Amino acid sequence: MPILIDTHCHLNDPGFEKSVLEVIERARASGVESFVVPAYDMGSLERTMELASSFPGVVYPAYGVHPWFVDHGADYEKVLSFLRRGSPVAVGEVGLDFSPQCPPQGIQVEALTRQISFAHDLDLPLTIYSDENPVQARDDVQAADPDMSGTYVRGRSRKPLPSPPFPQYWGLRLQIM
Ligand SMILES: [Zn+2]
Repeated sequence: MPILIDTHCHLNDPGFEKSVLEVIERARASGVESFVVPAYDMGSLERTMELASSFPGVVYPAYGVHPWFVDHGADYEKVLSFLRRGSPVAVGEVGLDFSPQCPPQGIQVEALTRQISFAHDLDLPLTIYSDENPVQARDDVQAADPDMSGTYVRGRSRKPLPSPPFPQYWGLRLQIM
């Protein structure tokens, strides 16, 4: 049986507070061995670290601020401190979402650029949220750091996706959900 890893799930959502053990046990019984859990706002950093220490070798953390929350008191020094001490497998969840209800574009771009620099400095991949064609996310990352080759992009695209298949097209490690 192949080893399955859920590379992006928010077991750190407060809605899982009471059920997380049951959810993990059920997933593991179905063959999912481990889970990458990205933080998304300041409040989720600590919960993510606690989950990773409660489920060693099962929950692997990522730390970052999602584009929806970059104007909710984001403190990047604090994010960096979690990245330095929290044994992360990636920086994230980061990204861009220019939908009208989201934070101003300038704040988002600044936040993404800053967190890309963390990934670069710590030699970690990124896990990226993109609500537009994920190729744009690839271009944004490469514009900020042309050498950033270890990037995971989580795409939730409303637009047609390009072919040929992504891995060849992108030249990046890829995560599509
Ligand atoms: Zn996510």
